[in-house]
This record gives sequence, C-alpha cells and structure tokens, in this order.
Amino acid sequence: AQAALERELAAKLRDDQTTRLRVQFDSEKKEQENRALLRENAATARIRRLQTVILILGAVTILVLVYLAVRLRTMAMTDELTRLPNRRRALALADHELQHARTTGETFSLLAIDIDEFKAINDTWGQASGDLVLQRVAQTCGAALGARAFVGRVGGEEFLAVLPATSLAVAQTIAEKLRSAVERIDLSPIDSALRVTISIGLTEFTLADDTLANIVRRADELLYRAKQRGRNRVEAPAA
Ligand code: GH3
Ligand code: MG
Ligand code: MG
Repeated sequence: AQAALERELAAKLRDDQTTRLRVQFDSEKKEQENRALLRENAATARIRRLQTVILILGAVTILVLVYLAVRLRTMAMTDELTRLPNRRRALALADHELQHARTTGETFSLLAIDIDEFKAINDTWGQASGDLVLQRVAQTCGAALGARAFVGRVGGEEFLAVLPATSLAVAQTIAEKLRSAVERIDLSPIDSALRVTISIGLTEFTLADDTLANIVRRADELLYRAKQRGRNRVEAPAA
C-alpha cells in the first residue's frame, strides 16, 4: 500500500511539474507574442507618422507651388516701380474692354497720359527723385479713377487709362480731375520747388473702331496736341 501511495505521489508530483512547466512555457510564449505585437505596433505607428509627414510635405509643396505661380503671374503683369498694370497687361485689359464694347455696344473712353518735362525733373532732382514722382503720379491717377476704371504704365513716364461705360463728356471731367489732382501733388518732401504736371489725350470708342491700336493712336495724337498747346492740359476730339 505504501509503495502504491508513493507511486501515486510521484505521479502527482510529475503532473504538477508538467503543469508548472506548461504554464511557464505558455506564459513565455505569450510574452514573446506580446513583444512581437508591440514591435509590430511600433512599426505601424512609425509608418503612419511617415505617411503623415509625407502628406504634409506634399500639401506644403503644392501650396508653395501655387503661391509661386500666382506670384509669377502677378509679377509678369505688374510694373515694379509703380505697382500698376504693366504695358502688356494694360493693353490686354484695354483690348478686353474694346471687345466688350463691340459686342454690347457699351461705350468706353481711353486716356493717353504723359508726364510733362519729366526729363528736366530727372536732370534737376536726380533719377531717384524722378522715380518717386512717377510713383506719386501713378498713385494719384489710380486713386482718382472709379472702381471699374484702371490705369497702367505703358512707357517710362507714359500711362494709359480706360474708363468703361464712360462717354466723352464724362471722361473729359474725369481727365480734368486727374490733371488737377496731379498738379496738386505735394512734392515738398523731395523739394519745395518741385512740381509735376501731366498732359492727357482723350478719346471715346466708336463703332468704327476695329483695333485697339487705332484708338490708342487717336489718343496719342491728342496727347501730342496737348503738348504743343502748352502741356498740363486735356485735349479731346472736337464735339
Ligand atoms: P514732354 O513734356 O514732351 O513729355 O517731355 P519729357 O521730358 O517728359 O519727355 P522725354 O520723352 O524727353 O523724356 C522722358 C524721360 O523719362 C526720359 C527718361 O529718362 C525718363 N524716364 C523714363 N523712365 C523712367 C523711370 O523709370 N524713372 C525715371 N526716373 N525716369 C524715367
Ligand atoms: Mg513720353
Ligand atoms: Mg513726358
């Protein structure tokens, strides 16, 4: 009976040991699995972070490219000194107005503007002062025009203004307002003796106008007449 009891005890001990070993093995395996899972999770998180960074970089790159494209387009259309539309842009806008007038029959007026004796301003007060005068004249002309109208710099000291839906009579008043506003610009910060004036040739669209060049030529001829008749004046076609 004792031998049987000892055998039973030994068997129980073996069983216990086996169970302990299995539990130990199982928990080690679980730990290993857990560690593997953690590693996997960490790798997934790294990939997610990388994806997010790439996405943000992509978005930023696109934004920068769009910004540069807009900046380049603006730069290509803008006169650097005066910030007005440059010659190319001003002529394109004017041509657009001409097409609009031809399809709708709505009139518009065009002003050829030139600073008087500007060479003398440069010669007397220097190129830098001349640049400042140009900026002030551009500013003044821009501010004196209505919302739909625009003025562009088409040459060194030459500007072109377009007044949409404006008849010759009304345009004449506006041109006169422009002329007098420029005459009143306070240039005393540069020099108290410094004055600036402009001459303007003014013309209105007619249904016979086929090209913008024709209209501009007409305005230029009147501008020339304003220069001949003493400058600081507006010349319009005889009514
Ligand atoms: P008029 O009354 O007949 O128009 O005489 P003007 O002296 O204004 O005309 P002219 O065409 O003889 O001279 C224009 C001057 O404008 C010559 C040129 O040096 C100057 N000019 C052109 N562009 C610029 C510029 O960007 N800055 C400066 N400071 N001067 C300029
Ligand atoms: Mg000129
Ligand atoms: Mg001039």
